[in-house]
Amino acid sequence: MIELVAGGASDVGRVRAGNQDSWSIAERLWAVADGMGGHRGGEVASRMTIDVLAERFDDHTTAALLEVARTANEAIYERATDETELRGMGTTLCAMALVDTGAETQALGVINIGDSRCYQWRDGTMTQITRDHSLVEDMRAAGQITDAEAAVHPHRNIVTRALGIQPEVRIDAFEVVPATGDRYVLCSDGLFNEVSVDRISATLRRLADPHEAASELVRQANEAGGRDNVTVVVVDVVDATGAAPSPGGSTRDDASGRSPDMAGITTARRPGRRSAPDGGPRRAAKEPRVRLRLVSWRTFVFVIVLAAILGVAAAAVGWYSRGSFFVGLDRGQVTIFKGRPDKVLWFEPTVEQRTGIAAAQVPAASRDAVDAGKVLSTRAEADAYVAEMRQMICSNLTHGAKPEPGAPGGPTTTIPADCVVPTPGRGATTTTAPGSSVTTTVPAPPTTKPPVTTAR
Ligand code: MN
Repeated sequence: MIELVAGGASDVGRVRAGNQDSWSIAERLWAVADGMGGHRGGEVASRMTIDVLAERFDDHTTAALLEVARTANEAIYERATDETELRGMGTTLCAMALVDTGAETQALGVINIGDSRCYQWRDGTMTQITRDHSLVEDMRAAGQITDAEAAVHPHRNIVTRALGIQPEVRIDAFEVVPATGDRYVLCSDGLFNEVSVDRISATLRRLADPHEAASELVRQANEAGGRDNVTVVVVDVVDATGAAPSPGGSTRDDASGRSPDMAGITTARRPGRRSAPDGGPRRAAKEPRVRLRLVSWRTFVFVIVLAAILGVAAAAVGWYSRGSFFVGLDRGQVTIFKGRPDKVLWFEPTVEQRTGIAAAQVPAASRDAVDAGKVLSTRAEADAYVAEMRQMICSNLTHGAKPEPGAPGGPTTTIPADCVVPTPGRGATTTTAPGSSVTTTVPAPPTTKPPVTTAR
C-alpha cells in the first residue's frame, strides 16, 4: 500500500514586485499556476485557476481534471473580457491528481498547459514528464536549437498556450503509474530557469521531507538570482505500511496550502501521513491510497496514441504560425519578422532583422502592405521585398535631387550603386554616392535581433 505526501513553497523572488504564482496542496490534488498579464492580471488568473480546481474537482478522473481546467479557462477568459484592467491575463497550469482508472486501479493524472513543469524523480533520475508549450520548446523540438541553447534562450518566457487567453484551450493530459519512492516536482519556471535539473535531483536525494525539499529548492532559486517568482510542490509516493523517508502525523482533510501570503516565502505542508501516536482511529477512508497495479496495455497504447495526435496538432499549428515571414513596422522601422502578423494563439512573431528603413520612408505604394504586415513564405522573399523597397526609395532620392542637366555624374535616373537608405537618429554620417551628384546618408549598421517584447 502506498500513500502520497506533499509539501510546497513559493516566493516572489528577488526581482519581481509581486508573486503571480499560485499553488495548492489538497487531499488528492496538487497544482502550480504561473500567472501572466500586467497589473494584477497574472495574480488573479493563477489564483482563479487554483480556486476553481479546489472547488470543482470531485469526480476523481483525469477527464474530470481536464474539464475543471477548461472551466477555469472560461472563467478567466470571461473576466478578462469584462474587466479592462485584467485584459489579456492568463496563466499556466501544471496539476497532478490521484485518479481512479476503473477496476480498482489508481494512477496519477497529470494535466499541463504553458511552461510550468512536472518532473518525476525515480531511482535517483529526474525526468521531465510534461512538455512545455513555449516558443523555445517548439524550436528545440524542431531541432533548431539545442537543449543547452533552449535553457538560456532570451525568449524562453514566451508561452504558446495558456489558460484564459482564448475561449477554448488544448491542455495536455496523461496518467502515470506511481511507484513507492517516486517523488514528483511541480514547479513554475522560476525554479528550472535558475536551478539545474542535476541540482534539483541532488536536493531531492538529500532532503527526504517534501516540505523541506520544496523550501530548499525555492531558496536555491533565489540564491541563483531569483529573477522570477518561484513555486515548488513536491509530492512523494511513500510506503504506507513500512518505514518512510519522511516524518508523519495523521492525514487530515484540512485546508489546502494555497498560497496564502504574497509577501515573503510562503510554505505549507500536508500535516503528515500516519495515525496519531496514541493509536487513535486512523482516518483511513480519507487518505489517498494507490494500489500498485499496472495500467492495462490498451490504456497505455491509447495514451501514447493520444499524445502523438496532440503532438502532431501542436506541430501543425506551430508550423503554420512560425513557418512564414512578414515585413512590418516595429519601433518606427521596417522590420522582417518570423511568424504571422495576425499572431496565431500565443505564437508571437519574432524579429528576424531590422532593416534600418524608417517608417516615413516607406514608398506610398507599399505603405498599406507594410502597415498590415506583408506576409511572405520564405526569408529570401522577405529580403527581396525589402531590397525592392530600398531600390524604390533610392530611386526616388535620385529623382528628387534634380541636378542640373549635364551635370557630372551622368543621368539622374541611375540608382547609385551603394545607395543606402538613411536612418534618422542613428548616428548617421553623410557621404556622396559616386556616380551621381546626390547626397545620401549612410546609417550606422542597424542592430539586429534585439529582444522582442515578451509575454511575461
Ligand atoms: Mn514564471
